Amino acid sequence: EFDKAYFHSYSHVGIHEEMIKDHVRTDTYRAAIMHHQNAIAGKVVVDVGCGTGILSIFCAQAGAKRVYAVEASDIAAQANEIVKANNLSDRVIVLHGRVEDVDIDEEVDVIISEWMGYMLLYESMLSSVITARDRWLKPGGLILPSHAMLYMAPVTHSDRYSESIDFWRNVYGIDMSAMLPLAKQCAFEEPSVETISGENVLTWPFVVKHVDCYTVTTQELESITAKYRFTSMMQAPFHGFAFWFDVVFSGPIHNQRKKRLKSDETIVLSTAPEDAPTHWQQTLFYFYDPIEVKQDQVIEGSITLSQSKENARFLNIHLEYASGGRSFVK
Ligand code: SAH
Repeated sequence: EFDKAYFHSYSHVGIHEEMIKDHVRTDTYRAAIMHHQNAIAGKVVVDVGCGTGILSIFCAQAGAKRVYAVEASDIAAQANEIVKANNLSDRVIVLHGRVEDVDIDEEVDVIISEWMGYMLLYESMLSSVITARDRWLKPGGLILPSHAMLYMAPVTHSDRYSESIDFWRNVYGIDMSAMLPLAKQCAFEEPSVETISGENVLTWPFVVKHVDCYTVTTQELESITAKYRFTSMMQAPFHGFAFWFDVVFSGPIHNQRKKRLKSDETIVLSTAPEDAPTHWQQTLFYFYDPIEVKQDQVIEGSITLSQSKENARFLNIHLEYASGGRSFVK
């Protein structure tokens, strides 16, 4: 039932329009496909969750022999029409169904997918990429993107805090401070998806999770815990934590050759505050009350992300943080 609602949300035009108009996203995918043209030309590709079919068509343009464009939502009908209108029906095969259910009668050389959700793991679509990999990918095949990193960092954001909270202190000359507890709860109980800038970030980020798409397992994603320790690079009110991610498009050998590939050969899609904004923005966890931190003050704690038992598409987040001798749980 919850998957029905999930796939139904992808049958609307708006969500595809938003993704395709995100040029950082779509151009980086196209650049990555062209970068790996040698591994794609003449080969068999599966596009996990093809949506309108755009990435499948990029792969066909890069010379793929055959692309299985798998899509569970009803947008598959439009994808099929788009493929026909671009005279690619002989090479792009749209399969309307879940990757977990459809049949493909051959092994594939390449898996492409745009599976990332807010905070990387919201929606849990990565497990469908794992399914596709384990069902069809040839040994030594290519997965795009190949690696993903989820980051977190403490942030200061006085404007945002004032706008939602301090606002109630004086409203047309009336003291509405009685609204403060409710305002804090309503504004900051849940994570907030918004764009911040590099200037809001108090320290270097911490890597919460490094995903290697060639080896990651579904069990590994059920619950992720990481302990972090930051030292603030400035004195500022500490308002909460920001999360963002990047994905890398490299071959399976990325790990061993990290140093060399880290150079300009690697194509990266970044959603970091200091980079060009994307439709993913950043995900913010605000505290009800800011913590005044001094330069070099330590901020430490742990973060746990776990798939909700009721709806595996949802994420439960448990955040522990301590600074200046006080500790909190969110
Ligand atoms: N590849 C497209 C769409 C990306 S959005 C693009 O880049 O524009 C992710 C798509 O994957 C959605 O259309 C969603 O319906 C589909 N999807 C998610 N999980 C799937 C699964 N298990 N099987 C098939 N399609 C899936």
